Amino acid sequence: MPETWYDTAQICQGGHVINPASVGSPAHNQRFCDKCGQAAITACPGCTAPIRGVFHDGGAAPPRGEYTRPGYCHNCGKAYPWTR
Ligand SMILES: [Zn+2]
Ligand SMILES: [Zn+2]
Repeated sequence: MPETWYDTAQICQGGHVINPASVGSPAHNQRFCDKCGQAAITACPGCTAPIRGVFHDGGAAPPRGEYTRPGYCHNCGKAYPWTR
């Protein structure tokens, strides 16, 4: 694992951020959203690129709550399901 890296976010298809650090903190992962019941995804439905989560800058783990979910895939530009 490199010193600085983007974690992968786990977000439900309704747009609720379930876990902004699904790789670094997998204990918080859920298969389904506990707010709306929709399935959680960790990758772009269009190109399967991982959804960018929190950025690890090599220091202490970033605090939960500072993360803002992306509206569009950084790799293919497609809108995520919650953006439509
Ligand atoms: Zn949800
Ligand atoms: Zn994509």
